[in-house]
Amino acid sequence: MKYGVVVCPKCGMAKGVETVKKTTICQCGREIHLSRMKLKYPTDSPQELARTVADVNAALRGGKPVPSEKRLRKKDSYTIISERAKIIKDPLERMQIIASELTTLKSEFTLDDLRRVAAMIGKDSAEDMLARLQEHNLVYQVGEGTYKTV
Ligand SMILES: [Zn+2]
Repeated sequence: MKYGVVVCPKCGMAKGVETVKKTTICQCGREIHLSRMKLKYPTDSPQELARTVADVNAALRGGKPVPSEKRLRKKDSYTIISERAKIIKDPLERMQIIASELTTLKSEFTLDDLRRVAAMIGKDSAEDMLARLQEHNLVYQVGEGTYKTV
């Protein structure tokens, strides 16, 4: 992993760093020795790093605990899927991409997963997507309320 996040021991704010670096200077002026710190949220994506730092600092500023790595990653995945799907013009193709990305992410997905992506895209409702995908035999039901792509 090329990047990670450290929380400054002086001001308590998060900062994105390159894992190869030995030290970094925080906005508050404190020099942070990375070998003594635990790097959180490791990633290879500079975009994901920037988003994570923003999310963690927003939580810290709001007086909330730092979000768990799992929760952040999950949220990121939905965002990534909706960003990828948003640019596809053909509705059925778009729905298919969303469903197959969700299947890759979770091995099987629920209507709730679809709703989260649908809310970010703001085009088709999750119910419509599921109905159309099933109609075209692109998605099938694997269990009680769980689906996956063919
Ligand atoms: Zn600081």
